[in-house]
Amino acid sequence: MEKPTPSDPTIFSKIISKEIPADIVYEDDLCLAFKDIMPAAPIHILVIPKKPIARLIDATESDKALLGHLNLVAAQVANDAGIGDKFRLVMNNGAKAGQSVFHIHYHVIGGRSLQWPPG
Ligand code: 5GP
Repeated sequence: MEKPTPSDPTIFSKIISKEIPADIVYEDDLCLAFKDIMPAAPIHILVIPKKPIARLIDATESDKALLGHLNLVAAQVANDAGIGDKFRLVMNNGAKAGQSVFHIHYHVIGGRSLQWPPG
């Protein structure tokens, strides 16, 4: 199983440190939410923890509150974007599941009709 080192810096570390710009829609001490650079839908926001966890499978018991917080922030940014009653929350885990940035992130997707099951 591919396993990047959780401390490997990713592009998201540079967004957190403001070394590279992003269209930030929400920030607090624990997390950041910003618009995806290649949106898959009219609304496509990424919600990331400031703590660099490579994949969800690498999270531990000590991350429980942080993961709960990310869910609540995802719902809040969806609501603020006007899709509070019609959005999808996705987290890809591992390259074979489509993960390309190894710093966990929720995709908040909406603003168009969403098919099920996803591809
Ligand atoms: P993944 O494929 O890991 O689930 O999702 C990574 C997401 O990050 C992709 O949707 C991709 O478009 C987005 N992304 C990658 N690099 C950047 C960047 O530099 N800025 C922003 N805003 N999004 C990025």
